[in-house]
Amino acid sequence: MKIKTRIITLAVCILIGGVLYYYFDKTIINNPGTKIMSSIDENTETIVIIGSGLAGLTATAEAYQTAKSIFKDDIAKNHKFPKIYLIEKEKNFGGNSAKATSGMNGALTKYQKELGIEDSLEQFSKDTFKSGGNLNVPSLVNTLVHDSKDAVEWFAQYNLILSAISQCGGHEIPRTHRQQPRADGKPSPVGYNIISGIKNYVLNELKDEVTVLLNTRVKEIIKNKDGKVVGVQYETTDLETKETKTDVLAAGAVILATGGYAHDWTETSLLRRFGEDFLKNVPTTNGPWATGDGVKMATAIGASIVNMDKIQIHPTGFIKLADPFNPTKFLAPEALRGYGGILLNSAGKRFVNELSTRDLVSEAIFKNCSGVVMRHKDEKEGKEIEKEIVRAWLIMNEEGAKSFDIGSINFYAKIGCINVIDGIEKVAEFTNIPIETLKATISKYNDDADKGKDEFGKTRFPFKFAEDNKFYVSAITPSVHYTMGGLSMNSVGEILTPRKKMSVNAILKTPTTFDDQADLKPILALYGAGEVTGGVHGKNRLAGNSLLECAVFGRQAGRRAAESVLYYNPNEEDEELRTTGLSKTKYTPLTFREYHKSDDCVYLNLKSSFHYVQPKQSLLLHDPKTETIQQVICSNLEDGGDYGVIKIKMSQLTNDSLNLKNLSPGDIIEVKLP
Ligand SMILES: Cc1cc2nc3c(=O)[nH]c(=O)nc-3n(C[C@H](O)[C@H](O)[C@H](O)COP(=O)(O)OP(=O)(O)OC[C@H]3O[C@@H](n4cnc5c(N)ncnc54)[C@H](O)[C@@H]3O)c2cc1C
Repeated sequence: MKIKTRIITLAVCILIGGVLYYYFDKTIINNPGTKIMSSIDENTETIVIIGSGLAGLTATAEAYQTAKSIFKDDIAKNHKFPKIYLIEKEKNFGGNSAKATSGMNGALTKYQKELGIEDSLEQFSKDTFKSGGNLNVPSLVNTLVHDSKDAVEWFAQYNLILSAISQCGGHEIPRTHRQQPRADGKPSPVGYNIISGIKNYVLNELKDEVTVLLNTRVKEIIKNKDGKVVGVQYETTDLETKETKTDVLAAGAVILATGGYAHDWTETSLLRRFGEDFLKNVPTTNGPWATGDGVKMATAIGASIVNMDKIQIHPTGFIKLADPFNPTKFLAPEALRGYGGILLNSAGKRFVNELSTRDLVSEAIFKNCSGVVMRHKDEKEGKEIEKEIVRAWLIMNEEGAKSFDIGSINFYAKIGCINVIDGIEKVAEFTNIPIETLKATISKYNDDADKGKDEFGKTRFPFKFAEDNKFYVSAITPSVHYTMGGLSMNSVGEILTPRKKMSVNAILKTPTTFDDQADLKPILALYGAGEVTGGVHGKNRLAGNSLLECAVFGRQAGRRAAESVLYYNPNEEDEELRTTGLSKTKYTPLTFREYHKSDDCVYLNLKSSFHYVQPKQSLLLHDPKTETIQQVICSNLEDGGDYGVIKIKMSQLTNDSLNLKNLSPGDIIEVKLP
């Protein structure tokens, strides 16, 4: 009897041990550099969004709205409604998005139409590629431009009417949108307004659905051993006691919206690693949170990066004359030049088309305005400090100031960034420019404005100057502003990894140049949007395209994450339906993603990023617009990396009415298994 009991006990122990071994083996958190073991619910519907700037807030709102619209009876049988977590390391929302001052681009918007502005998607694309030196990823630009109208108008639901439009540097057409100046003359900063609008929506209307964790820094992204992201590790700081608590949150999808690295002089500095040496002496317009956390965490689990050495220096950071050596600068918005601001060197001469792209204007300032000696009494040190700096004068008149937003101009004047001066004589005195030179410069500018052209190629002259004008004068200096590089993503916000297995070091060492993404595949359940990602802007971002990318790809990522979590049913018994999301009995509507020249393939989104269709699988395509049907073979690659997508080689399409190449992002094509 005793022996029998022992045998049974032993058998039970072996059984329990086996189950535990299997369980933990399946759920080992597979991060390089960490050995955390934890049990994590890999099939949770939770969506974790990291970063509360515009990309993160947009993704939060869109993830919720998508889930709400598709959470119907059949889905509810298999899933709970997703819980959404918005995690922010700072004590306030907003990141750099809250600092934005010029606006958000959009082509063919109703606001442009109301003002009689004729624009086109082609021209917007052209301007974006020109500014980016054609190093932009074409499919990302296509989505950015195509979705721009919807994105700009989407904000109206949060009472954000972006109907004031300016023409910023590098744009052939006025298309940078923001709110109208306020009637009471108070400042109306576009970034702060937008962030406040969506923040209020999330905190009030979504308070039961969205959990916001502030003062909480995500430290790691957790993958399972199949390579799928299953959660994050984070650290919360109690601001009073300074105590920290580390925890793990399981997630069905993680969206990175952690911003860029334009303030990253940390030990693991990305500016130092990828930027040129001289950047150390260039101030920044970014907040201290811009330390590239998302890039660092995602490359640690194998994400690919692009254009990391493309670091934008904005031509005009304000120099406060009372604090000239402060390394963090308020930005003199692009729109100040859009509304007629001109740039002068210390000798009082113009030297550039103020409406060129940022890289060209910055280059001209470095060339023409370096070596200016400034002295300033440092109160802390109690002595006068002398430094050589780069300084140009930015001068605008009252008409320009009023057209921009006199409330914001007054704010800049109050904090010592803009000096309001009556009459040209006093401007000459203030800037130490000989009065005759200054008068000659203004007079020549006015003549050029009459001719509609100047020696620097400027063809748009919003306002002329008069000598008795009220002048708005600022000292400005180029400042690190934006990082074009970041994580590789596709146009639905899926973060990509090299198809070939590579070490983290090798990823960081690969030449960070543009590619057409053919060698990349998605990391399952990891999405991204905003400045943390790269590829949209090529070598130089066009003014107003960053808020736009946050809105466009924040929405794409939020939507894709919610759809992926809800449309994928791990318990579906029919294997084909479970893995592909497609059926033999009825057509499934799929959305067109993009066409890639490099493989001559059209990409259609499967309903979830977790669905997978085998290479060479036969498929029936149906275009509901033309009622055309054709059988095709799926061109997904043999390495098993093409999750969430069906690729179809164009050369196999024989029916001219099925012109997939000309579809736009989001258009529907129906697909059935034969
Ligand atoms: C002064 C200024 C003016 C600008 N003006 C314009 C403009 O007019 N138009 C335009 O298009 N663009 C403009 N830009 C650029 C644009 O504002 C930003 O590039 C864009 O808003 C970035 O948005 P984001 O959501 O990607 O990142 P951010 O808005 O920077 O938000 C990222 C957030 O993530 C948080 N975070 C980072 N790491 C972690 C972590 N590990 N855990 C938790 N949270 C984390 C950060 O604290 C931050 O709050 C401007 C930028 C600046 C600095």
